[in-house]
Amino acid sequence: MRKDVRILLVGEPKVGKTSLIMSLVSEEFPQVVPYRAEEITIPADVTPERVPTHIVDYSEAEQTDEQLSSEISKANVICIVYAVNNKKSIEKVTSHWIPLINENTDKDSRVPVILVGNKSDLVEHSSMETILPVMNQYTEIETCVECSAKNLKNISELFYYAQKAVLHPTGPLYCPEEKRMKPACIKALTRIFKISDLDNDGILNDNELNFFQRTCFNAPLASQALEDVKNVVRKNVIDGVCDNGLTLKGFLFLHTLFIQRGRHETTWTVLRRFGYDDDLELHQDYLFPLTLKVPPDCTTELNHNAYLFLQSVFDKHDKDRDCALSPEELKDLFDVFPYMPWGPDVNNTVCTNDEGWITYQGYLSQWTLTTYLDVQRCLEYLGYLGYSIISEQESQAAAITVTRDKKIDLQKKQTQRSVFRCNIFGDSGSGKSGFLQAFLGRNLTRQNTVSEEHMSYYAISTAYVYGQEKYLLLHEVFSDFDVLSDTDLACDIVCLVYDASNPHSFEYCARVFKQYFMDTKTPCMMIAAKSDLQETKQLYALTPLEFCRKHKMPPPQAFTCNTADAPCKDIYTKLTTMAMHPHARLRCMCTCNRCTFCHLQNFINSELVQTVKAKLYSAILSRHVTQADLKSSTFWLRVSVGATVFAVLGFAMCRVLLKQR
Ligand code: GDP
Ligand code: MG
Repeated sequence: MRKDVRILLVGEPKVGKTSLIMSLVSEEFPQVVPYRAEEITIPADVTPERVPTHIVDYSEAEQTDEQLSSEISKANVICIVYAVNNKKSIEKVTSHWIPLINENTDKDSRVPVILVGNKSDLVEHSSMETILPVMNQYTEIETCVECSAKNLKNISELFYYAQKAVLHPTGPLYCPEEKRMKPACIKALTRIFKISDLDNDGILNDNELNFFQRTCFNAPLASQALEDVKNVVRKNVIDGVCDNGLTLKGFLFLHTLFIQRGRHETTWTVLRRFGYDDDLELHQDYLFPLTLKVPPDCTTELNHNAYLFLQSVFDKHDKDRDCALSPEELKDLFDVFPYMPWGPDVNNTVCTNDEGWITYQGYLSQWTLTTYLDVQRCLEYLGYLGYSIISEQESQAAAITVTRDKKIDLQKKQTQRSVFRCNIFGDSGSGKSGFLQAFLGRNLTRQNTVSEEHMSYYAISTAYVYGQEKYLLLHEVFSDFDVLSDTDLACDIVCLVYDASNPHSFEYCARVFKQYFMDTKTPCMMIAAKSDLQETKQLYALTPLEFCRKHKMPPPQAFTCNTADAPCKDIYTKLTTMAMHPHARLRCMCTCNRCTFCHLQNFINSELVQTVKAKLYSAILSRHVTQADLKSSTFWLRVSVGATVFAVLGFAMCRVLLKQR
């Protein structure tokens, strides 16, 4: 909102400018007036729009032309005063004052003008007949008003109109010549309509209209008022009302009507509530709230409330309910953006369905990625979607959780974070991209269908660690050794990928490790990629296994994405587990499926234990426990206690076995 409003009064001598100002201030007609009134400032709380207002007088007798020019260029609104009983003063409005004002103001940001016919007490007839043609000729004339300083008629109104002309200007909204709203205004209102249409059926039903009213005007519409509005629209536009709700056409008509009836403050209130500034651009404070501070070693994540909002946006646009966004659905979703934020690379960063469309899970992953890598951008995007308005939050920043300093996580040996970053290093051609794409469930055949320019250096999806869903963000680091930056090195876990079939491939991994990670606490994992090919001896002093043993790393993990179905995901769960528990020395990192650790892991993840757990939860959580439920829940309780005892025993056995190794 503006900080203040500066109103300037100009016009021929003796038309009553000074008297008007003094009548406003003292609420009585002054018998004697000076040539020029002192500049006065009306404090915000006594003005109708609650903005401090300066009123400036002009007197030809006391001021030079330069002073007048300077005042004109400083003014936010200019009242040209004439006396209704003085023909010459009316003529001068067009012959002198309007041209003078235009000379001294910017063509692009014309200052609004109000025509003021004073001394209405002296005549019977109105001057409107002469004035209306002038109004139609000059679009900068906002309105005209007849008043009398003598009997205090329309004085407050005059200054209210002046204030309103500045605070709620017609210019950006409406084109008086064409009697239509301007394209920018239509565009903004269309976006507002789409955001408010919560079920995306192209109609604002009563619930949506009430929500809209409450957010914009802090009060719901009475049901009769709602009907009245719809009836006005019904009478005036075909298709304005459909299924007893307001269509976009009807919504736009309603706003045109507000503006034409001089009620543009209504339209402005709506526009401002949805983040627009005076130029109908989304305000910087709306898109980029300053309240968010992210200290170093902290990361940014979306909180539960934000995920719920994003879920609802997805549901609203997944019209065929196939849990994926077709290109049209995606386009519709981003229709409220000024540009398309997701390029084709996003389809290779997150999970997609068989048609290559972003799935529900992929959609949430991409949001998680943006939040993690570029929180400002995430705030901007949430702003376009109207997050703070629909979720009734103070600002977009309410969507973000800034995680605790990683150093504290390490100290306390636990973390509340849900996104973990894994940076992937490896010589060119070692299979890094394949490793990224395999996380998205794509085997080599599928990967070969992707064009080079649509490839992504990121891949993000979820992994389950001890029953909790976490995001793992894989980032392929450019293989040129000398250009590694701090962000290339900062991560929760490092993956060193070598091509098991290429004898020169391992050396790169050994070098990266020794140069950058040997002395850090970041856990590292060696990946022997392309394990479907013939393994060859690596040309390096130590074998990869010896190297890992020496540096207390888990043994190299054989990996291939050249599979018939989707590649195996175990390795990603392991990486996430290591990233979450960097301090825990996980001794068994194999995927042999034979050792006790693997058996135990399989048992814990087995369906029996999972169903027992689920049953137990639902039995405890359900509020209305019936007798039968009670019986079955005691049964499940017993089963699960048994399972727990078994698991604990199993763990103890595993520990003993591992120690013996
Ligand atoms: P300015 O030169 O435009 O500032 O005009 P003034 O305020 O000095 O007023 C010029 C004369 O018009 C004074 O004698 C005022 O008393 C008189 N006057 C101002 N407003 C009114 C009005 O509304 N009605 C009548 N009848 N006289 C007015
Ligand atoms: Mg004067």
